[in-house]
Amino acid sequence: MTERCGYIAIVGRPNVGKSTLLNRILGQKLSITSRKPQTTRHQILGMKTEDEVQAIYVDTPGLHEGYTEKALNRYINKVASSTIKDVDLAVFVIDRTKWTNEDQVVLEKIKAANVPCILAVNKVDFLAEKTDLLPFLQEVSQKMDFVDVFPISAKHGKNVEELEKKIATQLPEG
Ligand code: GDP
Repeated sequence: MTERCGYIAIVGRPNVGKSTLLNRILGQKLSITSRKPQTTRHQILGMKTEDEVQAIYVDTPGLHEGYTEKALNRYINKVASSTIKDVDLAVFVIDRTKWTNEDQVVLEKIKAANVPCILAVNKVDFLAEKTDLLPFLQEVSQKMDFVDVFPISAKHGKNVEELEKKIATQLPEG
């Protein structure tokens, strides 16, 4: 496998399952050393090295607060894309039930940052029937040119390994 190393931001509105996903990904694989110099000004949350791939997960300040609808536009204008533009990839986590205004804010930031993005539709374990998800998946897939769209359950680890494999393919070589 090609050596790859890069920075990933897991983004999304509160409560969609970002921390759960990060913990699921990092698991026991937490590593404290990095081959890559710390050129990012983001806080490093954790790293995972596996099969020649080093994935460095970083924090994105400013994406965690909730916003009133009135404040949304102002907020979008005020906060530039700075929080996510220094990463190689964004993993955008949303909830399987609905698309909210807060999701829209996060989407706008990702678009403004012009960073490749994988959409993770989380908490699919709540669904009794897989087919119930399809119209929603179709709807959200249209929102931007995502690298890929993954229905996942961060809590139960469903489809998370597949997501990680996709993440790895998006990291810079060398
Ligand atoms: P964050 O605010 O985006 O970091 O969200 P958290 O990771 O704190 O998760 C918010 C809540 O959703 C917690 O109670 C999690 O246990 C729950 N949660 C996260 N992922 C899943 C999932 O895949 N399935 C279910 N059923 N619950 C989940």
